[in-house]
Amino acid sequence: MATSANRPRRNDHARPFYPWPTELQILSFERRDLGLAHRSGAHGVNRPKKVAVLGSTGSIGRSALEVLESQSDRFELTCMSCHQQIELFEKQCLEHQPALAIVTDEFNPSTRQWLAASDSTSMRRAAGSEALIQSISGPEVDIVIAAIVGVAGLESSLAAVQNGKRLALANKESLVVAGQLLLSSAKESRAEIIPVDSEHCAIFQALQCDRPGANPGQSVQRIILTASGGPLRDWPLEDLEKATIQDALAHPTWSMGRKITVDSATMMNKALEVIEAHWLFGLEAERIQVVIHPQSIIHSMVEFTDGSVIAQLSPPDMRLPIQYALTYPKRTPGPAKRMDWNLSQTLSWYPVDPERYPALELGFEVAQRGGTCGAVLNAANEAAVELFLSGHIRLTDIAKICRSVLQHHNFAPTPNLNELLAQDRWARDEVMRWNRSLC
Ligand code: NDP
Ligand code: MG
Repeated sequence: MATSANRPRRNDHARPFYPWPTELQILSFERRDLGLAHRSGAHGVNRPKKVAVLGSTGSIGRSALEVLESQSDRFELTCMSCHQQIELFEKQCLEHQPALAIVTDEFNPSTRQWLAASDSTSMRRAAGSEALIQSISGPEVDIVIAAIVGVAGLESSLAAVQNGKRLALANKESLVVAGQLLLSSAKESRAEIIPVDSEHCAIFQALQCDRPGANPGQSVQRIILTASGGPLRDWPLEDLEKATIQDALAHPTWSMGRKITVDSATMMNKALEVIEAHWLFGLEAERIQVVIHPQSIIHSMVEFTDGSVIAQLSPPDMRLPIQYALTYPKRTPGPAKRMDWNLSQTLSWYPVDPERYPALELGFEVAQRGGTCGAVLNAANEAAVELFLSGHIRLTDIAKICRSVLQHHNFAPTPNLNELLAQDRWARDEVMRWNRSLC
């Protein structure tokens, strides 16, 4: 049944009837229809876009710096942030020379030393999340690459959309926790949210086959998110509870940060991506499907009502979706790996076994229920993953804990930001209590 969020809308003056618009597409298509593919503003169309990379020391952040380096005629890195890896950050700053560098962990003694240090460049130094919010809200930033991990990235994602920036969103947790708030803020400020997550980037690209005017009668039947199945995909079910931290971190196809790698092993990552897709593309959970695709070449697919399926393929390399989120709607040459068509390659997919991946079901439930569920699931998962990575619980406990915390939370259908953050704190406390009860 269509909800108000995904019900087809009609804007007869702007474009032909388009049966499956999303907030994201409406914003993007309006720009394109008006010839405003890039926001020109008072500064003119051709000046390089000013980019902030939040979480530059992480896996996505480092890839983003490589992409920017390769596109230096189109983009200017004006702001970078890290949290605790100050040594690496200092090296990155020397190499990339942003106008402003921010260490968000302001209470760390090393941050104070770093702030007091001087170098021969004109780079300004700042500390704390408030400095980060201020900088991305101002005129020195056009595009924010949100590559902070976890709910810690929410405030900056919100600031980016509230101030009408293009948000190149890797931090899926922002949408999982506060999808409704992010979308309504983006609509109000006419900000663009362009997905960096490879599956959502693939869907975003595939959907452009159905753009207004080209296929006015066509619409989407479902989207199919692909999942690698993670490092434990072929383990006997009874051995899963013995998986060590090293086992869970040995991802077969992607090299990523520790939290998302554990999420891939449990398939909580795909659960979060179901919720992310629900918000980004305005789709009910029933029209989202997940299949295991071990090669990670097909990044996701859209099935249209006539039975056509459009997929996006490329080797697993996050530099491609990062670059696309920057250059959209244009495409430019870049550093991402290419398909080698001289090699034999077999692509396969098969359905997900719910017994092996109980976390996935939680994503569908949360996408259906909405409200405070995303904040609670995300916080419970972040806390449980930390417990697993510090050797306190088994990998198989993560989904059990998340289900229990989700079931016991005090559901609210239309929470504001403070209520979401309160639920986040409550869920983390619950996980800690669960852990203490085991000791
Ligand atoms: P990493 O763990 O590699 O990097 C996380 C980054 O966030 C680091 O720069 C880290 O700083 C910073 N950070 C950590 N905690 C805080 C905090 N409390 N406040 C501010 N900054 C903080 O993660 P990934 O790069 O793998 O993932 C980043 C995001 O992108 C996640 O949301 C993930 O789900 C998403 N994503 C990642 C993909 C990937 O291929 N890696 C693919 C698709 C989505 P420092 O290291 O200096 O402490
Ligand atoms: Mg993904």
